[in-house]
Amino acid sequence: MFIFSLILIFIFGLFVGSFLNCVIWRLYQKKSFLIERSICPHCKHQLAWFDLIPIISFILLKGKCRYCHKPISYQYPLVELATALLFILPFLIQQFFPLPFDEEILWLEILYYFFLISVLIILFVYDLKHFIIPDKILIPALLTTLFYFLIRDFYLAFLHSNFSIFTSLLYQLVSAIGVSGFFLLLYLLSKGRWIGFGDVKLGFLLGFVLSWPKSVVFMFLTYLIGGIIGIGLIIFKKKTLKAQVPFAPFLIFSFVISLFFGSEIINWYLNLLK
Ligand SMILES: [Zn+2]
Repeated sequence: MFIFSLILIFIFGLFVGSFLNCVIWRLYQKKSFLIERSICPHCKHQLAWFDLIPIISFILLKGKCRYCHKPISYQYPLVELATALLFILPFLIQQFFPLPFDEEILWLEILYYFFLISVLIILFVYDLKHFIIPDKILIPALLTTLFYFLIRDFYLAFLHSNFSIFTSLLYQLVSAIGVSGFFLLLYLLSKGRWIGFGDVKLGFLLGFVLSWPKSVVFMFLTYLIGGIIGIGLIIFKKKTLKAQVPFAPFLIFSFVISLFFGSEIINWYLNLLK
């Protein structure tokens, strides 16, 4: 039964991933997300439903368009697979680690997690490809997040008399302001060369979701990974210190690690200090 549910969620994730690819493409083309049919970006031929089956179409077509035979970007199957894997991740982790979600409202939390992961995948790919974090995605995601946590906290306060909405939101706000404030400082000091203003706004969203103290783990991981990759790029002379590196992918990677393993990392670190 567990395996069966897992496969269903995985397939659901593949289709969501396929939709995210579509959003990424249409966002860049400044087209509507829903009305138009999907087309090949090279020959503009309208695609049939059997050209749009996640992963399977890509394999059957050997990575080439059925009509013009130009290669289809690896972004398509990779985004589909990444979405599916991230969707089943909490269910796999649950076997070994406690989830960062409240048991009593697990499905509400999981639904929000699916939403957030979808948003982050769009931002990850978009920043990697176009070096910008689109406000059209980030701002609605931020508003949905604030609304979600308000609803969640009211519900938790209703379930537990000792749950304080004020404390919970205060921790989240302090964490959001702390993360985005630090990024803002880097942005101002470097005049936008180290990180962009989009990262400052994304920092607010991620800091808010993680809350204190997981946001500390998040900051530490981001700079560790960002630093290692930055040094690597300089050593291999791919980029100079001044060149822009898309930062959102590091932020999102660190976020997922901190969300699921933040408490474990903090405990491990505190034990080292003993
Ligand atoms: Zn084509």
